[in-house]
Amino acid sequence: MVQKVLAEYIWIDGQEPTKKLRSKTRVLDLDYVSLKHIPSWTSDGSSTMQADTHRSDIILKPVNLKHDPIRGEPHYLVLCEVYGSNGKPHKSNTRAALKRAAKKFEGSEPWFGIEQEYTLYDRDGVRPLRWPEGAGFPAPQGKYYCGVGSDEVHGRELVEAHLKACLEAKLEIAGINAEVMPAQWEFQVGPLPTPEIADQLWLARWLLYRIGENYGISAKLDPKPIAGDWNGAGAHTNFSTKQMRGTNGIHYIEEACRKLGMRHSEHISVYGADNAKRLSGKHETCDIDTFRWGVSDRGASVRIPLHVANAGQGYLEDRRPAANADPYKVCTAILETVCGKGFSIN
Ligand code: ADP
Ligand code: MN
Ligand code: MN
Ligand code: MN
Repeated sequence: MVQKVLAEYIWIDGQEPTKKLRSKTRVLDLDYVSLKHIPSWTSDGSSTMQADTHRSDIILKPVNLKHDPIRGEPHYLVLCEVYGSNGKPHKSNTRAALKRAAKKFEGSEPWFGIEQEYTLYDRDGVRPLRWPEGAGFPAPQGKYYCGVGSDEVHGRELVEAHLKACLEAKLEIAGINAEVMPAQWEFQVGPLPTPEIADQLWLARWLLYRIGENYGISAKLDPKPIAGDWNGAGAHTNFSTKQMRGTNGIHYIEEACRKLGMRHSEHISVYGADNAKRLSGKHETCDIDTFRWGVSDRGASVRIPLHVANAGQGYLEDRRPAANADPYKVCTAILETVCGKGFSIN
């Protein structure tokens, strides 16, 4: 039976240095919904920093389809890649490179899990949510991480609604927690292969912004929202290959740490804008000019979790990516460095 299906086409724009999400709705007459039934669409690239006015059309090519938890059945979220009018991936399209890397290294069976930290703001986006008016500050950090109670955590109503929506969309959410700075939170996605992990992270970000509208709360991925003795926001990226997950995998994990150390500055260059403010050597970070790895060390660039060291197999955690990093770029960099011979992205 043909029915009206609302397809929310979601894509990543061309803003520099940090790309943002865009979306628009298309009403489709469909009797069956699968990715190949969702047509490509065009958009005005001159309004998204992806084209000039004279040759303004860009092409939105559907690449991933999820149930729309906001509109419900039979409606869908449609994640798209952006192509230019010449039919080639647009230069803002970093998913295309990740797809190539995924194919090249599929024999290593790589998995990623990403911890997305973010900060909630009042509707106007000026002060973190329910921070004192004007120039005042909340009490110093220490009691807020994984806290409970209205005086300690701000915005749980949005965080819970977002978690539920992600699960209804069948995103592989692994957990949530309140963070060290009040109004700061984290959700984790994965473990998943590429490019699915990065697609899901972008979709989970879209849902966070979209559901925030219902509460008059805006989420931001600024890596260092408040200067001084307040934690920044990262996107810790956990990574494993089949060898790392297997018996004596720890040897492969240590080898991966050494390889990551040899390309530290290249990785930093694709790990998000304004990351230098966050990677200060304080607040559970290693300073941006130093690479260090260690077991259970939250002051290292790359940490091997204690339970992984004890088991002698598992995964590593790259703590360097900023909250605003593009997961397509981060995953491509890690794949090329650990499984291949280095990388160059755009
Ligand atoms: P932390 O102690 O750093 O806060 P979290 O529990 O927040 O750790 O996040 C751990 C992340 O590691 C999750 O996103 C999870 O999906 C991911 N993860 C677990 N096992 C693997 C694995 N084998 N390979 C890659 N990622 C993994
Ligand atoms: Mn975490
Ligand atoms: Mn965290
Ligand atoms: Mn972490």
